Amino acid sequence: MSKIAFIGLGHMGGPMAANLVKAGRDVHGFDLVPALRDAAAADAVKIAPTAADAVRDADIVITMLPAGKHVLSVWQEILSLAKTGALFIDSSTIDVESAHKAHELAQQAGVASVDAPVSGGTGGAKAGTLTFMCGGADAAFASARPVLEHMGKKIVHCGGAGAGQAAKICNNMILGATMIATAEAFVLAEKLGLSHQALFDVASTSSGQSWSLTNYCPVPGPVPASPANNDYKPGFAAALMLKDLKLSQQAAASSGAATPMGATAAQLYALFNAAGHADDDFSGIIRFLRGEG
Ligand code: NAD
Repeated sequence: MSKIAFIGLGHMGGPMAANLVKAGRDVHGFDLVPALRDAAAADAVKIAPTAADAVRDADIVITMLPAGKHVLSVWQEILSLAKTGALFIDSSTIDVESAHKAHELAQQAGVASVDAPVSGGTGGAKAGTLTFMCGGADAAFASARPVLEHMGKKIVHCGGAGAGQAAKICNNMILGATMIATAEAFVLAEKLGLSHQALFDVASTSSGQSWSLTNYCPVPGPVPASPANNDYKPGFAAALMLKDLKLSQQAAASSGAATPMGATAAQLYALFNAAGHADDDFSGIIRFLRGEG
């Protein structure tokens, strides 16, 4: 049976590795944090003493790490140990520049590579229903797909190297901006004496419609499953939204794209995070816009 190495067994990587085991795969994991190694071992992931040990003889190597600097440092450490014909998949959300560098490092080592960031959060990671946005050569994507299918239900090939990360940050820039616009509209409606339900009923079937409104409504009531009904517990934490908006701003600056709405969204989420709301759901920004602190 082919061997999979899984590096980074945190909030996302832990349940993703567990789903690979459930699908009958031979998974060898490593994380710097001993408690996370123990938790993964309880899910029948075979724990390696180091990342290098996990990678030796692996056919597929998956990384799920915090940021670009971690991915580059881990890939630099392990690529030279990779088996001939191995495939490297990075599912972390990282900056596009680092994603390109990771692909270059893999190419220099003669290893196929795919950037495959995800959406769907920890719930999707546990349920195996993540969306994977993939960048890389056709052959590398074709090899990655059956593995990703054990962890997700939608696997999209977005283009060549870095295209998965590009898709992820463009999508989340839309999400951040539409959430703020939706929250502002509810705050204005409150001032005008218009009920939340009336605005929802009109906008959800009119041109103001968006995922932020119909799936993740920032006021309690109209969408019972939205975090607004659960005191804005995440969900998708404001800290992660800020991370993704900063990545999109970094990409906009280096590519020369004008993204004034994205820049404003990044600034507003920076203020919201700095006001002590990093662990709140990102839709909680409506309370900040009302001036509730
Ligand atoms: P996390 O911090 O829980 O997990 C990252 C893990 O990487 C940690 O356990 C850490 O110990 C480990 N790590 C760091 N350096 C390492 C090294 N050198 N060797 C081995 N392990 C190392 O983060 P997470 O929530 O699992 O997110 C992982 C990635 O997925 C991030 O890039 C994040 O932006 C992205 N993401 C997260 C969510 C979410 O809802 N949490 C959703 C979509 C995407």
